[in-house]
Amino acid sequence: MKRWNGWGDESVKQKVPEGARAMLEDLVGSPALQQSIPREKMIEKVPESRLGQESSVISKDAGTRLDHAHGQSLPDWVGMRCGTLSRFPDAVAFPESEAMLEDVLSLADKEKMTVIPYGGGTSVVGHLDVPEKDAPVLSLSFERLNRLIDFEPESRLATFGAGVAGPDLEAALKARGYTLGHYPQSFEYSTLGGWVVTRSSGQQSRYYGRIEDLFAGGRAVAPAGVIEFPPFPASAAGPDLRQVFLGSEGRLGVLTRALVRVRRMPETDDVYGVFFPAWDAAVSAVRELAGSDLPLSMVRLSNEEETMTSLVLAGKDKEIELLKKYLRIRGLDEMSWCMMLMGIAGPGKIASAGKKAAKRIIKKYKGLSVGRAMGEAWKKSRFTAPYMRNSLWDMGYAVDTLETAVTWEKVGSTVKQIQEAIRQAISDKNEKVHVFTHLSHVYSSGSSIYTTYLFRIAETPEETLQRWRAIKTAASRAIVEAGGTISHQHGVGVDHKPYLEAEKGKPGIEILRAVSGQMDPGQRMNPGKLVD
Ligand SMILES: Cc1cc2nc3c(=O)[nH]c(=O)nc-3n(C[C@H](O)[C@H](O)[C@H](O)COP(=O)(O)OP(=O)(O)OC[C@H]3O[C@@H](n4cnc5c(N)ncnc54)[C@H](O)[C@@H]3O)c2cc1C
Repeated sequence: MKRWNGWGDESVKQKVPEGARAMLEDLVGSPALQQSIPREKMIEKVPESRLGQESSVISKDAGTRLDHAHGQSLPDWVGMRCGTLSRFPDAVAFPESEAMLEDVLSLADKEKMTVIPYGGGTSVVGHLDVPEKDAPVLSLSFERLNRLIDFEPESRLATFGAGVAGPDLEAALKARGYTLGHYPQSFEYSTLGGWVVTRSSGQQSRYYGRIEDLFAGGRAVAPAGVIEFPPFPASAAGPDLRQVFLGSEGRLGVLTRALVRVRRMPETDDVYGVFFPAWDAAVSAVRELAGSDLPLSMVRLSNEEETMTSLVLAGKDKEIELLKKYLRIRGLDEMSWCMMLMGIAGPGKIASAGKKAAKRIIKKYKGLSVGRAMGEAWKKSRFTAPYMRNSLWDMGYAVDTLETAVTWEKVGSTVKQIQEAIRQAISDKNEKVHVFTHLSHVYSSGSSIYTTYLFRIAETPEETLQRWRAIKTAASRAIVEAGGTISHQHGVGVDHKPYLEAEKGKPGIEILRAVSGQMDPGQRMNPGKLVD
């Protein structure tokens, strides 16, 4: 069963290894003991619904409303765990067909309800925040619009209901010998509709493409009407309206179904572990790999701090001692190791030649390949890392992530600036932050930068939020000053909204507002997100 106040399935528990406890105490200090509010107490906080209607598809059940009142952002976590969540949708609708969904939207329009589309609830930037409104708020769940509707092998297109979650989508395609290959770390729960409207990026996007490459067309319903996006292989007929809907975060209406470009399961889809002796050399190697035409599915390079933290958190002391011994013998200094995971995918012969060529680049920068075992281990546990957030919170540590993308000449300096801004953000409160980074999606022109930070939860929820706000603001300003995008993959929501104008410009924001006004004249579709 899905954990109501944290990440993932309740049955999956991750232990924080002893070594990691000691490391964290050393790096940020001993945590204050944290207690989580029980679900029954939280349900008592859900007020009476302001909505009259209840039907087989609209539920006013307090637990259901609680479960749709948040996503997975750090403020969401504080709200769930400390019981400070204070705004809840008045009801949750679960339409089972597109016709039912249109009926729900008509009702919402008639009753002047605010509508928050809800996919898998995995947003990390406040997309699902319930606004303070006089009108009732309806959460519109896509949970039951989750089926494979059509499959056209000749055109390699599959049509799914927008609420299909990662595992169900891949299972339906795998049964036919195909894959979408879109694996965000939230794969277990996030949905196709959520991916499209937040411009999501999967871990192997280098080979399979980001969602904007995979989203071929579909159907959107907005208060102003219905838009069909035909799946043309290409078109020069003016601006591409799919691009307007990609990243629209529920502000322009809802995506009810999507056509996606699928491909045959590749013959080879392997991941290798590599260690570099130092960060600068590693970045140069990654840049050269990114600029090559090799069949890479992913290149993920951790800096020294992340390499050390990942090894300690993995807790596999015996294996790690062996690995350390091997790396030392091969002349790598433990303090500056940078770990890289490199994926190779494609037809067998092409992948094999690609692997050889990639290894030549790695060798040039004194990288050391430790083979497939590490990559296989990563593949097995690729979706379990976020479960550690539950265990760390239980210990008294909050963990959050943020990300950007910049061109290659700015990568090194931007990583430094973000990390430094985060480290300093709460030093005036005598609090330390442990921060580490990896380059996760690489392009010939630049790379995404993904930073994780961990700090002590405070005695009160307000103080914990203040700490988070200070860190988030400092890091977001550092990103803007460095000339990075405010988000490479998580989207805008409410948390990134103040920084959007820096990259879109005033006219750009006005265009977004105008489109939103046109599609949703009453401004009732997920107001307060993306743009005001
Ligand atoms: C542990 C973890 C790991 C993550 N890893 C990644 C990652 O690797 N890559 C990545 O890109 N993101 C990642 N994310 C962020 C998140 O998973 C993505 O933003 C995802 O695309 C959200 O999808 P969802 O279905 O959960 O949408 P939700 O969180 O339910 O909603 C997100 C937004 O989309 C809107 N929406 C949802 N469905 C529809 C629809 N059908 N029509 C219109 N609007 C809709 C909602 O109103 C909201 O504004 C991660 C999040 C977590 C918690």
